[in-house]
Amino acid sequence: MQHALEPSFRQSVDIMFNRAAALMDIPPGLKEKIRVCNATYTVRFGVRLRGELHTFTGYRSVHSEHMEPVKGGIRYATSVNQDEVEALAALMTYKCALVETPFGGSKGGLCIDPRQWEPHELEQITRRFAYELIKRDLIHPAQNVPAPDMGTGEREMAWIADQYRRMNTTDINAAACVTGKPTHAGGIQGRTEATGRGVQYALREFFRHPEDVAKAGLSGTLDGKRIIVQGLGNVGYHAAQFLSEEDGARITAVIERDGAVIDEKGLNVAALRLHIAETGGVRGFPGATFVEEGAEVLEHPCDILIPAALEGVINMGNAERVRAPLIVEAANGPVTAGADEVLRKRGCVIIPDMYANAGGVTVSYFEWVKNLSHIRFGRMQRRQEEARHLILVDELERLSASHDLKWTLSDGFKQKYLRGAGELELVRSGLDDTMRGAYQAMREVWHSRQDVEDLRVAAYLVAIERVALSYQSKGL
Ligand code: GLU
Repeated sequence: MQHALEPSFRQSVDIMFNRAAALMDIPPGLKEKIRVCNATYTVRFGVRLRGELHTFTGYRSVHSEHMEPVKGGIRYATSVNQDEVEALAALMTYKCALVETPFGGSKGGLCIDPRQWEPHELEQITRRFAYELIKRDLIHPAQNVPAPDMGTGEREMAWIADQYRRMNTTDINAAACVTGKPTHAGGIQGRTEATGRGVQYALREFFRHPEDVAKAGLSGTLDGKRIIVQGLGNVGYHAAQFLSEEDGARITAVIERDGAVIDEKGLNVAALRLHIAETGGVRGFPGATFVEEGAEVLEHPCDILIPAALEGVINMGNAERVRAPLIVEAANGPVTAGADEVLRKRGCVIIPDMYANAGGVTVSYFEWVKNLSHIRFGRMQRRQEEARHLILVDELERLSASHDLKWTLSDGFKQKYLRGAGELELVRSGLDDTMRGAYQAMREVWHSRQDVEDLRVAAYLVAIERVALSYQSKGL
């Protein structure tokens, strides 16, 4: 799909980095130190399956250790290669810096088509891969903490956590060696949908600034906006579901592996997801128009385009024809450096990946903190809230008594104030705060500097600045 002259994914990230770095007053040596990937470990291991020995190739790349642990998902796909994991690890460094999660950047991948294996086979493969990484401290609560990515989910994370525990029986912090675990196995509520939720919060924040919305040639709110989503996996599905259910947006097309479905009135996202689960694709979804050539639908008119699948889908081969005035990068690297330039020149606003999909790692951070604190998340806060409200309730009762007022506090009133916040509420409000704060940091740079054309450069500037500060304070 990629244009012949197009640079690789990693080169594309480098080009974007260099565009921002050129505007910064930091020593060239430090820029280089930040840009390069520190190390990539490649492992080839054999697993005996179906009576035969199968060899698998996996990677774990560490981009920057200015903060530890380093953080980033593990991807299962046949397209996984060293260039890709290095690009993704670099994006993790900048993403974590932008949303202020205290991690360096890392990423892993296994060259495999997970749909070709049975769950018990995948468990064997995952445990063996994890064993190789654990042995080298490439999975470790204080050094390197993976999470789900394309092709993996809470099931794989639970296997990895269990594998780590078996190999480190005395590590009291074992649960924090990986995030994105099921809630019954040390996970946190709201992690599964966190990246999609983050995309929603990112768009909500964008639409709170009419000046920014106008830059994309749009106006008003999310209500009624026509959205095309590419990829109805974990990220695309949740983003589409929340935006259509809660913000009144219309999902007018969904592009999947086997083609695309279109309905200008708005697709029923939940029903479509069910249809995909049952039939393996979008073809035949009742009431919608099916298009065999899915990629062409990226070029259809809409208000917002959300690429939520693979990198490089908007490239020099199709950028000229992509008509969306606003693109939200729910995937990592969906727009190549070349396409980015074409779109930017045309005035298309791109909400960059390192911000748009940072909801996942943000909630991963909450999970990691919860695991390390060994306390049910929310309990500390709840205790503090309770203490505050008890004082308030006491005070009100004392006041009413001393002033001989004719009212007392009802039990219902007391209950309401004593309830405190639950885990999911805390996760959501923490994520919302993070997405708002990070947008404002980018926006400030975007609007205050003449030489900053777009949100991507603004995001890189904020992120690189923070990483540079961290390196400088270390004495490097
Ligand atoms: N794989 C996700 C990402 O690309 C999540 C990473 C994490 O939670 O560590 O951001």
